[in-house]
Amino acid sequence: MECIVTKIARGRLFFANPGPTNIPDSILRAVSQSTVDFMSGSFLEMYDKCMDGLKRILKTEQHVFFYTASGHGAWEASLVNVLSPGDTILLIETGYFSLGWGQMAEALGIKVETFAADWRQGADISKLQAVLEADTEHKIKAVGAVHNETATGLSLPIAEVRAALDAAKHPALLMADTISSLGCFDFQMDAWGVDVCVGGSQKGLMLPTGMSFTGVSNKALAVHKTSTMPKHYLDWSAMMNRRHKSFIGTVPVSLFFGLAESLRLLEEEGLDNVFARHHRLGEAVRCAVRAWSGNNGPQLFCTNPGRYSDSVTAILAPEGCNADELRKICMERFNVSLGGGLGPLGGKVFRIGHMGDLNEPMILGTLASVEMALQIAGFPHAKGGVDAAMASLAASSVG
Ligand code: PLP
Repeated sequence: MECIVTKIARGRLFFANPGPTNIPDSILRAVSQSTVDFMSGSFLEMYDKCMDGLKRILKTEQHVFFYTASGHGAWEASLVNVLSPGDTILLIETGYFSLGWGQMAEALGIKVETFAADWRQGADISKLQAVLEADTEHKIKAVGAVHNETATGLSLPIAEVRAALDAAKHPALLMADTISSLGCFDFQMDAWGVDVCVGGSQKGLMLPTGMSFTGVSNKALAVHKTSTMPKHYLDWSAMMNRRHKSFIGTVPVSLFFGLAESLRLLEEEGLDNVFARHHRLGEAVRCAVRAWSGNNGPQLFCTNPGRYSDSVTAILAPEGCNADELRKICMERFNVSLGGGLGPLGGKVFRIGHMGDLNEPMILGTLASVEMALQIAGFPHAKGGVDAAMASLAASSVG
């Protein structure tokens, strides 16, 4: 019998992109409430609680500024508020997103130096101290590090970057992009001596896209006073004069209804349990890929087990196979949305996001669809990926 594939999708969309991510029903309900005056007492009370709650997630007692913008807005705020034209930033290469942050810096007239790295192994932070010590005139004003490179599925040990700065006695600010790590695995702004961190709403916080923020240390705020970079909408000094200590324009009220619920969900589960769940699901995906990799099948893009990301796995398609073909089959046959390869990894890599509101059957459904798609596409692989994932999940303890 001919198999007719309908284009009308029934059942849930299995959304396995590494951002935006699934939005829990209770957050959808929260953001759908009627709007209110952002200066009203009831809103301000909730807003202040959101500010405190986000500080608990960032693990900081210092400052937070919010922006009505996607992560790029917070990236730009991080640069224009503490640097001046002609200043130098040292960016630790991780992949597509570290390059993007660097391109933005260059466009703003900042000099970019790159601490080069192999995208599959990750930067060798043991060599960073020497690079910083060689900068005897302290021309480097900031070191930028992407905590989780969403394009490659590699994480970066931010505490080791801080240790290198301290060992070199270098005064540069430490800036960290936590866009695809926050709420997925541990980030500790104050304990790790991060001066500016950048985060966004649409990944581990499980919110719609459109709000981003920066955590800012007292040291960074002092440096901000000396920055001559032109700025207006993103200017922290102007923001500090506003009641909300953020937002030059209208406050995105609905996103704060959502953030209040997101913080409630994260704290109800307990941050450590949230991280353990992400680790469990990440391990299951990695077990599946290792099983598929037999017979010259797809491989984990990350070749350094110490750097595995618990929020996203990038998977290298077998030689001569187009990863986008597999993604198309997953989408059209099974209503499963996967992330694609970014920049030079386009067509070579597909990505499974395992961040945010996700559980075991959801990840197994995605893995089963990928395993079927490997067969349908005729890509070389070994069977047993889903079995390996199930075995890993069944063996892991749940807190
Ligand atoms: N940094 C990282 C690590 C990201 O993953 C992204 C987006 O996925 C960005 C920055 C840019 O954020 P946005 O797309 O929200 O502007």
